[in-house]
Amino acid sequence: MTTWVYSFKEAAGKSKQLLGGKGAGLSEMTKIGLPVPPGFVITTKTCLTYLEKKDFPQGMWPQVLANLAKIEKATGKGFGNPKNPLLVSVRSGAVISMPGMMDTVLNLGLNQETLKGLAKKTNNERFAFDAYRRFIQMFANIVMGVPLEKFETFLESERRRLKIKDDTQFSAENLQKIITSYLSIYQEETGKNFPQDPKKQLKAAIKAVFDSWNNKRAIDYRNFNKIPHELGTAVSVQTMVFGNMGQSSGTGVAFTRNPATGEKKLYGEFLVNAQGEDVVAGIRTPKPIEELKKVWPKIFTNINQIAQNLEKHYRDTQDLEFTIEEGKLWLLQTRTGKRTAQAAVNIAYDMVKEKLIDQKEAILRIEPEQISRLLHTQIDPKAKLNIIAKGLAASPGAATGQVVFTADEAEEKGKAGKKVILVRPETSPDDVHGVLQSRGVLTARGGMTSHAAVVARGLGKPCVSGCEEITIDTKKGIFKTNKKTIKQGETITINGSTGEIIAGAVPMIEAKITSKMKSILAWADKIAKLSVWANADYPRDAKKAVSFGARGIGLCRTEHMFMEQERLPFVQEMILAKNEKERKAPLKKIGQFQKNDFMGIFKAMKEKPVIIRLIDPPLHEFLPQKEEIKKKINQAKNKKDKDRWQKMLTTLEKMAESNPMLGLRGCRLGILMPDIVRMQTRAIIEAALAINKKQKKPVKFKIMVPLVNNLEELKFVKKEVLLEAKKIFNRKGEKLHFEIGTMIELPRAALVADKIAKEAQFFSFGTNDLTQTTLGISRDDAEGKFLAYYQDLGIIKTSPFQTLDQEGVGQLINLAVKRGRKAKKDLSIGICGEHGGDPDSIAFCHLAGLNYVSCSPYRVPVARIAAAHAAINEKEA
Ligand code: PEP
Ligand code: MG
Repeated sequence: MTTWVYSFKEAAGKSKQLLGGKGAGLSEMTKIGLPVPPGFVITTKTCLTYLEKKDFPQGMWPQVLANLAKIEKATGKGFGNPKNPLLVSVRSGAVISMPGMMDTVLNLGLNQETLKGLAKKTNNERFAFDAYRRFIQMFANIVMGVPLEKFETFLESERRRLKIKDDTQFSAENLQKIITSYLSIYQEETGKNFPQDPKKQLKAAIKAVFDSWNNKRAIDYRNFNKIPHELGTAVSVQTMVFGNMGQSSGTGVAFTRNPATGEKKLYGEFLVNAQGEDVVAGIRTPKPIEELKKVWPKIFTNINQIAQNLEKHYRDTQDLEFTIEEGKLWLLQTRTGKRTAQAAVNIAYDMVKEKLIDQKEAILRIEPEQISRLLHTQIDPKAKLNIIAKGLAASPGAATGQVVFTADEAEEKGKAGKKVILVRPETSPDDVHGVLQSRGVLTARGGMTSHAAVVARGLGKPCVSGCEEITIDTKKGIFKTNKKTIKQGETITINGSTGEIIAGAVPMIEAKITSKMKSILAWADKIAKLSVWANADYPRDAKKAVSFGARGIGLCRTEHMFMEQERLPFVQEMILAKNEKERKAPLKKIGQFQKNDFMGIFKAMKEKPVIIRLIDPPLHEFLPQKEEIKKKINQAKNKKDKDRWQKMLTTLEKMAESNPMLGLRGCRLGILMPDIVRMQTRAIIEAALAINKKQKKPVKFKIMVPLVNNLEELKFVKKEVLLEAKKIFNRKGEKLHFEIGTMIELPRAALVADKIAKEAQFFSFGTNDLTQTTLGISRDDAEGKFLAYYQDLGIIKTSPFQTLDQEGVGQLINLAVKRGRKAKKDLSIGICGEHGGDPDSIAFCHLAGLNYVSCSPYRVPVARIAAAHAAINEKEA
């Protein structure tokens, strides 16, 4: 015969899957001898059978009755006994905690007769009436679906009539009358009398709690938290204990360690003469648990001891619920305590030092994203926010500042020490000086890889991009959201971790890397197989990356150096040039800038590897927008100026492509203009030679060719690089070692990886482009427009640009790794698309056998934890 019901005693050792979190905690506490009011658990399996058959499974109800009899024996009370009534609670308890989502019925077992018994037994008529009133309301609402307002409206009118503020002021007589009215409301609403048979009450309550697994809020909560819908809930039926029986009773919650800071000290709150729901409802303000020491010193010591024992038993912080009934302590729940990111790190570290857990377990207890939160300034979670708009969470962290609408103003005010937020329709290379001096950036257009987003992430500044619900009127100096108009100079806060725009300033929590976090990251590095590198374009990024523990640079996007304001004119001159001869002078100038930058990067990285990618984006990205050029032509003061702008317009029009993402870019540029490749090669090699003179170990650099899909492309560029290198070596009489490899960022490159591997010394998956080209979705066009809608509809679960599409793109990666390594056994393979900083994608990269992941410097610590998780999880699987 199937066991559907277990007493707390019998349930010990059974799985949480079967008992739910609450049931498992209660039986475990019963087993180790803690004071738990007797009760039993109806299993999740029962719930699933019930939901399927719309009825209790055969044999369940007799098991409930048998267990009820056990409780009666243990407590000496009787279910429905008018002299000494047993009252029970009927609570839900899912495997994965879903606080407040499902239903609970308290004080079950009360009726006209047992009510009298309870009053007499407790010598407290008022208390008994209050318990009955609550029970009628709860039963009517949860079991019979009577709207709560029916009771609340009536109660409110009574409060007004009797001039009462707090429900504790209702007298016994008042409550008795309220009960009479409640019973008629029940009758009117359900067409039935309130059930007087406690067993019938119990049957109906159990069904209602099972059904609450599928109420709307529970389903929404599961969808949001990705909890499977097939788990079902257990139900625990437990002897009621009362914290509201007078001045020697009370109720509270206690954490074994501080959930905000992790400090090892009992933390919590309690209320004298109250029930659990009073603490939650916030009608009265609870007292800090420290004060329990004064009120009931013995109980405080007792709770403290129990807390320590439970923590040792579970080897993790616990969150306890307790009730004191007339001086006796009862425990009603224990579960793993939720905690902030800071507390998670501190507790994990401390528990290793206390020898409660090992290093592996400590790492597993930290969610990679928690680390990310610790690296950026955050809005205080307790703060009240006036959210006026929402865009894309493009670069994490939060910032407050005055609104400015131009980069020049941002620069001027920023340099003068003012905190500003740069608000633009979108940003372009011309705005970088303003971004540098801003606390954060808000743009109306552009996706997660828009200029603003990429630059802000690189700088570690918050950015909300693609906030399409704002309209900016720079002339009037205002921007409008659906809710509010914000003027230039007004203060706003942006939250780049959520995409929210908030009116005014809000309290913040500052970021810091603590020594405990550093230790945990070092433990993670020992365990991880993947090494973590960074995407860094400037010396300042490289320094940041090293400080966050990057072991190399996996992608230096050289074109970002082209975009700086002082260099852009030379880049534009190069673009406007008709031929190689005309390009010579501007290229020389650009080469000097690049050499200096590379020297800075090599210096910061010492002997750590640096992968430098040759120029990638289509050249029109370095020219102003068409409208702007036309304006300049009209405003030109002399012929020379006018001619130059006119030439720019003609060039831009000639370069126009209907799909630049798939047009003249990547290695195709270098093939059409090999002098650019040669210039970049010179800058890199000369920088390396210069730095080698200054340090003991030579710099380790690699040159990477972007957007290759055909072996011949790679061969062509490689030849140019090698010839140029040879020339430099001959000229200088010096030599150095370097590698040439390629990005795999087009489906064809993945498919012919075996051929490409013959000429490539390494591969790096550019999963940004590989995702776009495999899915046929342009990220910038999709992110602000239909991807979020797709997610709402359930067509996709997560954005493929954030978490790697393992089913599709993942196949290409696995195939390219296999074919690449078949051609070249020790081929070094990494990933440098944004997925390199995403924990789920990192787990995939680990299993795919990559050597490293490369991500934005601020994601490096996140990736280090995620890489260790991947290694541990693989072993444990
Ligand atoms: C990529 O495509 O993944 C990549 C790293 O290159 P980019 O984002 O610069 O196109
Ligand atoms: Mg790319």
